[in-house]
Amino acid sequence: MPMPHLHIETPYIESRALSLQSGRNVWLKMEALQPPGSFKIRGVGLKCQEAVGHGATRFISSSGGNAGIAVAYAGRQLSIPVTVVVPETTTDRAKTLIKQENADVVVHGASWQEANALAMSMVGAGDAFVHPFDDELLWRGHASMVDEMAQAGDAPDAIVLSVGGGGLLCGVLEGLHRNGWSTVPVIAVETLGADSFAQAVKARYPIELPAIQSIASSLGARKVAQQAFNWTSKHSIHSVVVSDRQAVKACESFILDHRVVVEPACGAALAAVYENVEEVRAYKKIAVIVCGGVTATIAHLKQWSGD
Ligand SMILES: *Cc1c(COP(=O)(O)O)cnc(C)c1O
Repeated sequence: MPMPHLHIETPYIESRALSLQSGRNVWLKMEALQPPGSFKIRGVGLKCQEAVGHGATRFISSSGGNAGIAVAYAGRQLSIPVTVVVPETTTDRAKTLIKQENADVVVHGASWQEANALAMSMVGAGDAFVHPFDDELLWRGHASMVDEMAQAGDAPDAIVLSVGGGGLLCGVLEGLHRNGWSTVPVIAVETLGADSFAQAVKARYPIELPAIQSIASSLGARKVAQQAFNWTSKHSIHSVVVSDRQAVKACESFILDHRVVVEPACGAALAAVYENVEEVRAYKKIAVIVCGGVTATIAHLKQWSGD
């Protein structure tokens, strides 16, 4: 018998508020409702289960965000110890959420690069390293959200999602292609200052940003996965960049409209619809991946919006 998934099937609902606001038919894939708070558990869960199948006795992660929280959650569910190496910039809240899943937290380095280097150096026999966005198994796991959407009914005219390192993008594209939805365009949204995908599209290769200058820390990959860039020549992908301010405003509107708190990383995708950007106006029925994120609280959102 196959092992049960660590993710749950999430609601796929029509948003009256966003439909009225944008003048189109807007659907939401509610990944914010996954037990560890984001879509990440889909790919991380599959990766961790496969690793256990191959005899892994410890999981190692280098993410001070939702990926680290998802690996810690997977470890607790599978009774496997987890070590998460996080950079010094990681918030107390994120560290608390990781420790709450019984994982060990090691703080190291000024940025993710240094934390990741230490995490990789710690990987010994029996350890499985779980990358936050650049792994084929991760993408295959993320693709399950599109399977659920396809089972629910007809294809939307476009799918809106956020891009950090591009794991979500690669997963959704894999899901579109394996469900016969390969002609559905994707609107890939980032915040200004974390726009490594938009810059890669412009430069025609995956450039590395010198630094991240956005509050949307979950979009803070300085360079997208090569595979995310490769998709740009095989699928219709529109790159959109919104401001931090627009992303935070979208989070606040989303609390009023749907009573769910998400990070600005997710607010970016929502902002493209709330702001009715040109790329969205081209389509009648839009599906938004509400990717979630638990490292920002209402207090953080208030602080960022200056209220
Ligand atoms: C990880 C994450 C993203 C970005 O996903 P990538 O796979 O890195 O592109 C966006 N939003 C949230 C809430 C995340 O946790």
